Amino acid sequence: MKEYSISTILAQAGHFVDSGTGAVTPPIHPSTTFVRGDDYELIGEYIYSRDQNPTYDQVEHLTAELDGGAEAKLFSSGMAAITAVFETVNMGQHIVAPTIMYHGAQDWLRRIAKKRGIGLTLFDTTDQNAVRHAIKPGKTALVWIETPVNPTWDVIDIAVAAEAAHDAGAILGVDCTVSTPITTRALDFGADLVFHSATKYLNGHSDVTAGILVTRTTDKRWEEIKFIRKHVGGVLGAFESWLLLRGLRTLSIRFERASYNALKLAQHFEGHPNVETVLYPGLESHPGHMIAKRQMSNGFGGMLSLCVKGGATEAKTIATRLKLFASATSLGGVESLVEHRASVEGPMSQVPPNLLRLSVGIEDVNDLIADLELALEIH
Ligand SMILES: *Cc1c(COP(=O)(O)O)cnc(C)c1O
Repeated sequence: MKEYSISTILAQAGHFVDSGTGAVTPPIHPSTTFVRGDDYELIGEYIYSRDQNPTYDQVEHLTAELDGGAEAKLFSSGMAAITAVFETVNMGQHIVAPTIMYHGAQDWLRRIAKKRGIGLTLFDTTDQNAVRHAIKPGKTALVWIETPVNPTWDVIDIAVAAEAAHDAGAILGVDCTVSTPITTRALDFGADLVFHSATKYLNGHSDVTAGILVTRTTDKRWEEIKFIRKHVGGVLGAFESWLLLRGLRTLSIRFERASYNALKLAQHFEGHPNVETVLYPGLESHPGHMIAKRQMSNGFGGMLSLCVKGGATEAKTIATRLKLFASATSLGGVESLVEHRASVEGPMSQVPPNLLRLSVGIEDVNDLIADLELALEIH
């Protein structure tokens, strides 16, 4: 069969046409249970929706195809998916993760890993050799990275991390929430597992909380992850799964527009008198730009940060003066958001106090520039 490009596959929800009715839109299957036939054998492959349901299947097939993986599994949130991976690490084993990463996942590692006797080493995301030094051969079971790293957008070289993990007998899991498979397919660079908080770009409309894992191979660890989802019950539900499928159909066009807008903003505000630095992997001045060019093949994404002149007070004042950028957490929706991360993450946060994180939406970029210009006039 001809290999279609990602945007074609997405637009057609995986070439969907319902063979029974001719419908071009995939159906919702809200049923929690599935009958058996006269011979007491199952009619299809479904038994009960805590395990599997045809509507989850539609999303899982599509996302496995996007990332080029063997299988995908859908979860009730990003954290439900991440913790299912962490749960596969046993007492006495070791996990490696970045110092700056999605703070919810790091919170879990700091608290639960310690309680369960799992070792944890955090590595500096600005040093590409740091990941190899953090690994303990024979003990490290999982290297978990995120790229670009939220909210400094440091870029971690996936191929380098994969090689370091594999040399030590560990696997590499990559949080690709911010890059999405539109621009980075982590399995192509040697990752074993890819994670997306589908709450963000994949759904894209700030109205579904969901997580997705994609695996390179259906090995023992993957069987364990499936066992965890089935027994913990972190499934999404048919209606949300269907909404997510609907959101996915426009992912490529949304991501491309957000990337275009973010690059324009980054270029416009670099060198602005009230801005100390603009952090965006698409800027040549960004330390991770060369790696980003290699592993982000279709845009640098819609996330950037502005370190403003001054400290936390100035940053928060600017956030409240913005009219188009709503002051709210989360990212990857069609509407632009701003957040003062240091306030949200609390005292353990490594994020600079003058940093404002922008999730750039798909609005007209000139309106966004004008909004920021006005808010920055405070100084
Ligand atoms: C939001 C987010 C998560 C967690 O996903 P939820 O859907 O909120 O549980 C993990 N990683 C990154 C990078 C995120 O932005």
